[in-house]
Amino acid sequence: MAAVVYNRRYDIGFLGLERLHPFDSRKYGRAWRELNRLVGRDLRRYHIPVDRGVSDEELLLAHSPEYLARMSQSKNIVAALEIPSLRRAPAFLLRWNVLRPMRWAARGTVLAAQAAISCGAAVNLSGGYHHAKRDAGEGFCIFSDIAVAIRQLRAEGRIKSGQRIAYVDLDAHQGNGVCHQFRDDRDVFIFDMHNPSIYPCRDVEARQRIDCDLPLPVDCGGREYLGLLRKHLPGFLDSISRSGTVALGIFNAGTDVIQGDPLGAIALSAEDILERDLYTFGEFRKRRIPMVMLTSGGYTRESYRLIAASVCELLRQDGTVSG
Ligand SMILES: [Zn+2]
Repeated sequence: MAAVVYNRRYDIGFLGLERLHPFDSRKYGRAWRELNRLVGRDLRRYHIPVDRGVSDEELLLAHSPEYLARMSQSKNIVAALEIPSLRRAPAFLLRWNVLRPMRWAARGTVLAAQAAISCGAAVNLSGGYHHAKRDAGEGFCIFSDIAVAIRQLRAEGRIKSGQRIAYVDLDAHQGNGVCHQFRDDRDVFIFDMHNPSIYPCRDVEARQRIDCDLPLPVDCGGREYLGLLRKHLPGFLDSISRSGTVALGIFNAGTDVIQGDPLGAIALSAEDILERDLYTFGEFRKRRIPMVMLTSGGYTRESYRLIAASVCELLRQDGTVSG
């Protein structure tokens, strides 16, 4: 049975932020409402509400105290968000309208990872901040929800010492923050299909950490993209599950691979993305690897629809809802 983690506080609402960044900052609420439309009342039975945002203590699992202190100043928050025109905004407004939703989303990733381990599959309708490093936020990613979740589950004993984590990043951007967070942690195995011509293309060190590095050509189409995924994902998952126990699969399912996305420069159709997601769910399920899906990047007005379509099919295939 699959679970869906969502809270209305995920939406980022800030004085016209949507005009300053190519990002639908309310796509989380839109995805939830679309999912309700597609699935109906049954969805509520599988909904895990989020109780709070992650605490400072939990964030210290992934970040230094100095970094968290820096994130109380506007100029540092704005630099990580990469929206210079917000520089004059008071820090308390940025904390309330931008950082607070991100804390709730990070807590959602922890809850979704816990749910995945207990029930097989779970989706957080936000999260996937894969550019956040221990001492630096960048690329609109401030808190490394992925590192917080992995380390918290280990501390709780839900992921035991020596058990493995399969991290599959299919967002258009390379997940450099995750690579840095787990640079010396060889129980985390990284599969990353990305466009190497866009940010963070200068982060050479991050790419060296990827276990299965699949660079894509600019404007890569669905046939080539899905062919690469089908060719490499099964071998990656087999190789790590044959020689050890994989306690958790993390699927960073960014939708900025859609044709026309202003940042991704990959050319998948909506059907290709649905196929990508269902194929990936299936590969985890086939190997009985608990999977948590995070929605990550996606900068078109259609992003929420793509997310809802994939989650709806995941619930259907999982037998959660009929149809
Ligand atoms: Zn991205």
